[in-house]
Amino acid sequence: MSEAGNKPKKPRVNVRRPDVMEHVAAEVAIHFHSTIVEKLRDRGGKITVGNTTVLLAEQFGFCYGVERAIDLAYASRRVFPENRIFLIGEIIHNPDVNRHLREMDIVSLPWQELDSSYDDLTKDDVVIVPAFGAPTLFMNKVEERGCYVVDTTCGDVMKVWRRVRGYAKDGVTSIIHGKSNHEETRATASRALGEEGNGNYLIVLTLSDTDYVCNYIINGGDRVEFLEKFSDNVSTNFDPDLHLRQIGIANQTTMLKSETEEIQRRLQKAIIDRDGNGGAFQMFDTICGATQERQDALFEMLRKPMDLLLVIGGYNSSNTAHLVEIAEPELPTFFIRSAACITSLDEIIHYDLHHKEEKISNYSRLFSDERAVTLGITAGASCPNNLIEETLIKIFELRGIKREELVGA
Ligand code: SF4
Repeated sequence: MSEAGNKPKKPRVNVRRPDVMEHVAAEVAIHFHSTIVEKLRDRGGKITVGNTTVLLAEQFGFCYGVERAIDLAYASRRVFPENRIFLIGEIIHNPDVNRHLREMDIVSLPWQELDSSYDDLTKDDVVIVPAFGAPTLFMNKVEERGCYVVDTTCGDVMKVWRRVRGYAKDGVTSIIHGKSNHEETRATASRALGEEGNGNYLIVLTLSDTDYVCNYIINGGDRVEFLEKFSDNVSTNFDPDLHLRQIGIANQTTMLKSETEEIQRRLQKAIIDRDGNGGAFQMFDTICGATQERQDALFEMLRKPMDLLLVIGGYNSSNTAHLVEIAEPELPTFFIRSAACITSLDEIIHYDLHHKEEKISNYSRLFSDERAVTLGITAGASCPNNLIEETLIKIFELRGIKREELVGA
């Protein structure tokens, strides 16, 4: 059935034609590939030149979902060379990738609000749905306008949607561990309303949110205060006195696995404390394989001695931010967008997750002195290899090692 209801929708376009994909593969490789990074990965992720060693995590960078989304976006331009092409929000959270799409004249539409720009869409326009998916309201609108839809939603995200729709069908409220201002969480929340629109959801982000909900489950509480606290993070008709009776957990695919597990554990315990059994609790681990692999690879890398870690990715990338959170307690960790953030021997521009701002730190100790240094590098699922390569080269250049020496090493 169409998400817009029973109205027949325009068939999805197959942009993955072999003749198209051959060109797309070549274009994508030119924009995002790195021979140096591939070589380093094949050699076990360690390179030493002079007194500088760089370690690369075993799993890093583009995941299968991101690769597919980028391929489909590039293919859309080839299949529809003359049409206007729009994208709901960003294809992924990486400014470099998004710049390439803008250069192909793929125009971003707002994703937080269905504004009047959607009313201007025509049946000749192409609308790309990003890897995170889009809320049903947006999908319905695009279908209603009769546009060609190129849906790049990742299969792992759609798995979560199937789960929360199932909860809605069974009268179970979805408790979604995620960031309420993240595209994927908004898209998932809209599916938690179910096919009939009468499902319910509650989005929790932190352990302290979870404890508040657990306390309400066990002891009840101030309904008005609850609704004020979660005002933007609950379904329209959510009533904590009614809709915490039966709960099912799902999560944004890119959350920190350990935190999601703790949230599941606390909510399950609250239901058991209230009911004497866990019958009114369901859960399903919806962290995606790629996120888990990158987190596991970082834990493994942190066992090795390193002086500092660079985590490369877009500042609004959830899975990248969690890599930073994992490493921060262990060693000096810098969340950078690209090589340009390492401005000189003295400075790194990086994103401070806690204050949500970019700041400058002085690290001359590591870059300018003569002692041997080991740096670790990892990158989020939306970070292309060419950005990792540029960072690698910049580090070695600052340490007095020329690009040619690095390539020949
Ligand atoms: S991070 Fe996971 S859910 Fe997101 S696109 Fe990649 S594989 Fe899919």
